[in-house]
Amino acid sequence: MNALSDIAARRASLLARLEAAARGAGRELDAVTLVAVSKLQPDDRIAAALAAGQRVFGENRVQEAQARWSARREALPDLRLRLIGPLQTNKAGDAAALFDAIDTLDREKLAVALAVAAQKLGRSPDILVQVNTGEEPQKAGVSPQEADAFIRLARETYSLPVKGLMCIPPLGEPPAMHFALLAKIAARNGLAELSMGMSGDFETAIRFGATQVRVGSALFGERE
Ligand SMILES: *Cc1c(COP(=O)(O)O)cnc(C)c1O
Repeated sequence: MNALSDIAARRASLLARLEAAARGAGRELDAVTLVAVSKLQPDDRIAAALAAGQRVFGENRVQEAQARWSARREALPDLRLRLIGPLQTNKAGDAAALFDAIDTLDREKLAVALAVAAQKLGRSPDILVQVNTGEEPQKAGVSPQEADAFIRLARETYSLPVKGLMCIPPLGEPPAMHFALLAKIAARNGLAELSMGMSGDFETAIRFGATQVRVGSALFGERE
């Protein structure tokens, strides 16, 4: 099989699994969005995913995403780009201009920078707050204990359109407890969006209420 039919077939099977997981959890079939994580993937695979009808993509670097998507945006009015990797404050302006959503707000300095960028642009991308559910020292995200106060700060002090939460559970731990914790924090803060679950665990994430699953390698193949 060539890359194009390969990716189309994998996408169809992922969507079928996603819908089965949603149905099994008693959720609407359209309640969960497949975010195609295109970081570090060669361009022909991106083209294949687009040809197969994929429109929501996740990138983890601003510059890589600009290079790949700036020229394509015009021709694809229904394209939706999400930043799923850490964001430096000095790139907040570029990120706010390119992305429809930034899923990794995790500190006040970045909230300030995004508020300034939104002011200049006259619009803001949707914002998710990243929560470090496993409280791993090397991982980004606010701690679960700080989450409520930080969400309030982002919404009230900086007027950011916070729509939900995102997490990356610790490697090698069963993710269910982390998904459940993220869902609980979202519920008590009245947040509807939950970005959780990747290639290896998205069905579990859907059971716990994921509204977006971030799938890279299971769609595109291994990253180069
Ligand atoms: C790379 C990445 C993914 C996708 O990982 P796969 O295992 O390839 O599905 C999901 N979320 C984040 C934050 C990532 O950086």
